[in-house]
Amino acid sequence: DQGALPATVRADFPFFSSAEGAGLAYLDNAATTQKPAAVLAAVTDYYTTANGNVGRGYYRLSMTSTDRFEAARTTVQRALGAEHPDEVLFTSGTTHAVNLLAGTLGRRLVGRGDQVLVTGMEHNSNLLPWRRLCEEAGAELVVVPADTGGTVGVDAFAAALGPRVRLAAVAHVSNVLGTVNPVRELVAAAHRHGVPVVVDGAQAVPHRPVDVRALGVDFYCFSAHKVYGPMGVGVLYGRRELLADLPPYQVGGGTVKGVAHDEPVRYLPGPPRWEAGTPDVAGAVGLAAALDYLDGLGRDAVRAHDAALVRYAVTALGALDRVRIVGDPARDPSGIVSFVVDGIHPYDVGGHLDRNRIAVRCGVHCASAFLDELGLLGTVRLSFGVYNTTEDVDRVRDAVAGVRPGYWTAEHPTTRFL
Ligand code: PMP
Repeated sequence: DQGALPATVRADFPFFSSAEGAGLAYLDNAATTQKPAAVLAAVTDYYTTANGNVGRGYYRLSMTSTDRFEAARTTVQRALGAEHPDEVLFTSGTTHAVNLLAGTLGRRLVGRGDQVLVTGMEHNSNLLPWRRLCEEAGAELVVVPADTGGTVGVDAFAAALGPRVRLAAVAHVSNVLGTVNPVRELVAAAHRHGVPVVVDGAQAVPHRPVDVRALGVDFYCFSAHKVYGPMGVGVLYGRRELLADLPPYQVGGGTVKGVAHDEPVRYLPGPPRWEAGTPDVAGAVGLAAALDYLDGLGRDAVRAHDAALVRYAVTALGALDRVRIVGDPARDPSGIVSFVVDGIHPYDVGGHLDRNRIAVRCGVHCASAFLDELGLLGTVRLSFGVYNTTEDVDRVRDAVAGVRPGYWTAEHPTTRFL
């Protein structure tokens, strides 16, 4: 059962016809997604017919390549509901986007005695850049914890917005629990204090339409590879007024109007200022093809499909007496369900599933501070993509029903719910 999407979707992904992919229940889409043929074709076509360096050549091929790159930027702009294409910067991924902001906006805004607000549920990529910034600036990182449902409440967040807060960074969707933060309300609360907000949308864009203007965000980041596009490319959206003041991050080729040894450097306005060096043009083109592919399936149908699988999994796994679902992923489903099996280490569950040709992530999901807060050694995480079906979930349920303690459980014998 494919829910709101046709059963033919899986056939769009050559990986599932490969020796590795055939028969695999691939349920680690929050780590990375498989790629549809349309994306592979777009990347190959770029390298076959249009490969030249961008923004650098006064010959047709370079201009063709530049056109493809800029067309990809426009596709991303439309997908995010951004006002201008030059509000879209290409990065190597979410991690790079957050580091870029911490190294530019952060350094400019945050000084000794100031505060930066983050939530207790951040992925390391939206935590460590801010933590290092605070350590270097002599500032304080203030962590607003998630509530028991696994989201950050507006009241708790607003209460932390004291006069020393210069910046806030929040996850849109938790990569651990699939829970969704009330981003629009959090941003509105921050803006009442004049605090700009950076949103990590890595786990949101794959599962729900995102409109940066409706959310009111200042900055929004995501990675192409989690949304059926290539690895090594991602996006940083920034509001034009805020980007206008942002210094360059890395400097080098492509960022300047011109350099003379005895004159101040004049950096270019717009995206090239933050895209030093040769960008991943094929990656951007592949990302645009991925976004077009999702549009072809229908964004609402994708969301309904991923949500239906979350609800199905919560019911199917919740019926097993040794299983506990962590947080409330069905309240506003976003493609992820995390669970623990009573008395069995998540790695033992993951290993058992792997032996049954089921790929899931288990452990702390690059968010060990959040797992500490949840009082867990780790979870088993199912994360859905457009090619998953209820049969995949049934296979997980049947395998989990038969899981036994193993090496990792023996290493941690005192923990009941791991
Ligand atoms: N934030 C979240 C919420 C994520 O899930 C991930 C990837 N697991 C990242 C940031 C980092 O993304 P990338 O590795 O593509 O930079």
